[in-house]
Amino acid sequence: MISVIRVALDVPVPRLFDYLCADAHEEDVGARVLVSFGPRQMVGIIVEVATDSALPLDRLKSCERILRDLPPLPGEWIALAKFCSEYYQMPIGEALLTALPPRLRRAEPLADTDCFYSITVPGRAVLQHLQPRQKILRRILEALLAKPQTGSQLTHTAHTNRTKIRECIANLWIEKHTPPSEVHEFVIAHPLNEEQSNALEQAKAALKEYASFLLFGITGSGKTEVYLNLIAHVISEGRQALVLVPEIALTPSLESLFRERFPTAKLCIQHSEMGQVERAQSWVEASQGKAHIVLGTRLAVFVPMPRLGLIVVDEEQDSSYKQQDGLRYSARDLAIFKARQWNVPALLCSATPSLETLHHAHTGRYRLLRLTKRAHKSARLPAIHLVDTRKSLNGEGLSEPLLQALTHRLERREQSVLFLNRRGFAPVLACGHCGWVSGCPRCSVNLVMHLAGRVLRCHHCGFHSQIPRACPQCGNLDLAPLGRGTERLETEVTAKFPHAHVLRIDSDSSRGKLRGLLETAHSGDADILVGTQLLAKGHHFERVTLVGVLNADAGLFAADYRAPERLFAQLQQVAGRAGRANLPGEVFIQTRFPLHPLYRALQQQNYEGYARELLEERRTAGFPPFIHEAALRAQAPTMETSLTFLKTAVSLAPEAPEPLTIYDPAPASLSKLAGLERAQLVVQSHSRPILQEFLRTWNKTLCALQTKVRWHFDVDPIEF
Ligand code: ADP
Ligand code: ZN
Ligand code: ZN
Repeated sequence: MISVIRVALDVPVPRLFDYLCADAHEEDVGARVLVSFGPRQMVGIIVEVATDSALPLDRLKSCERILRDLPPLPGEWIALAKFCSEYYQMPIGEALLTALPPRLRRAEPLADTDCFYSITVPGRAVLQHLQPRQKILRRILEALLAKPQTGSQLTHTAHTNRTKIRECIANLWIEKHTPPSEVHEFVIAHPLNEEQSNALEQAKAALKEYASFLLFGITGSGKTEVYLNLIAHVISEGRQALVLVPEIALTPSLESLFRERFPTAKLCIQHSEMGQVERAQSWVEASQGKAHIVLGTRLAVFVPMPRLGLIVVDEEQDSSYKQQDGLRYSARDLAIFKARQWNVPALLCSATPSLETLHHAHTGRYRLLRLTKRAHKSARLPAIHLVDTRKSLNGEGLSEPLLQALTHRLERREQSVLFLNRRGFAPVLACGHCGWVSGCPRCSVNLVMHLAGRVLRCHHCGFHSQIPRACPQCGNLDLAPLGRGTERLETEVTAKFPHAHVLRIDSDSSRGKLRGLLETAHSGDADILVGTQLLAKGHHFERVTLVGVLNADAGLFAADYRAPERLFAQLQQVAGRAGRANLPGEVFIQTRFPLHPLYRALQQQNYEGYARELLEERRTAGFPPFIHEAALRAQAPTMETSLTFLKTAVSLAPEAPEPLTIYDPAPASLSKLAGLERAQLVVQSHSRPILQEFLRTWNKTLCALQTKVRWHFDVDPIEF
């Protein structure tokens, strides 16, 4: 009998599409399917199998074919994506297809998934006679000589790709292999201290059902160690663990740590920088229950795991968990939804939890696990000094106390970190004569001057142009770079300390070479590391005993009410780079506001006290977590068009039930981006269900509107 299948497609229309299908059964719900849509062929997902349609059956097209190379996606997976679509007001098709790795949105079947590789007898012989330039081949063969590995392990240990591995197979130097027997080895690095064991025991006791934990402990207090132990326990019981981290591509050391500590476990890595085939293959493996641990960025929350037993969200406050375009989801919040759905615990970890999470911990919705001491016996918390730049210099550059501290480190052959969260040479180029500044022609921001390549570059839209020789407005030849970025700081530090090895680590210097730069930094070869937040995250440099922070004040007075919380987290993270092992650390923060409560709290290591004050302010001002918010945003070639659209939207808003407030439309803080003028309005309510219902109805009305304006909802926005 002919069935009707209702298919989710990645198109901006909030509905499913019906197709005829000769061989569809109830079990095909969740299967990928190839259909023609307009002039194109697309892969969609079957959400329902039915016998009827709102359209006459003879008007329906037939689907091309159901893709049976993979089993259908499980019901829980569809439920998670559906929840995402409803909660974030996204068309169902866009939500479902966004949750799928890009490679699975294509029809060609995936090659067979991961198996083990081992070195052959000819391979061993070849290894004896390799030329010095055959470096990759040597790495592959030596890695396999040490032990058999899966394809994804091998690409990691040998720093190579699948093509090289295939070459080795073709040459019979290595061979495929059935997986070795399942033994779960966990390498114990340290016996846990009392606080750690307490936290571990409490979490272990709750493994049988849903519970949310906040593991709250200063940097270096051993949070990672606690969740590694918990994961070991979970996988020893035959279940899978999902670990979300902010930026795995930037922290190869984290992947290495997992491989070291779980040498026999199958690890599935998921992030957007990896190859599409590799990502899809490891996704499929996790979904078949073969992977023990899934480790990835926000998108990993969508990996189906049939034996899910635990979800860990590391650095839960990190803003990268929120996707800022397309499907604007928060992976942290979805992690909690998923934990409930699977009736398993979620463990949120942070040294500086978001105020939302902290509030939940205070009110008992989340259970609080505290670590108050640094785990490494001899590691003490760094002393934090505030350098008043109103006295020692006019706000920029390196102050005398910081220069002295740097000199001492060089004498003692210890490393220093200089943190400046602004890349490029200078944030703007200006003409002192007529007042011209290097603005981006497409955005409401300045073009940043970069010495490398001698360009002015927009950090928002990518626009770039050559540095002009003379002022484009008045012809003045004397253009001045204002302010300072990491490139300039590097130049200045090198001039001050000509014998020191200065290494700059930011996204400009590291393009494709981050691993190498970090290796140099770790080897202790570099004396002074100059860098942006790229340097602050998750790296352990044994010999760093000094951290200098420049221009932190920029974050103090930002318009966004989340700015102080973010600045605190960032500074604490940077400060945590100092004195992690055996050497005591010192931090110098240069500021014009040494009495600011944020710096005071940082000095006293009192995030919680400061956070309570911030929470009180939020309560009084009526901000989250005491209220729920959504933004409606619009962008168009002129501001007027954007604002007019939002005003029309307000006039079409459904009857607003109490208590719900719609604020007036206003230009966004980045009011122009890539040639489009942006405006937004905010809706607030004390009741989540009322807000959700309101948005749902409003969204429907707006979708029916014919407009050229691009608009979207952002539910629980974190940037304005
Ligand atoms: P966090 O995740 O809280 O920043 P980590 O778990 O990374 O802290 O631990 C910080 C450092 O202390 C690491 O080098 C780790 O190996 C070490 N460490 C953790 N737990 C212990 C322990 N119980 N005894 C000794 N060292 C420990
Ligand atoms: Zn000029
Ligand atoms: Zn721009």
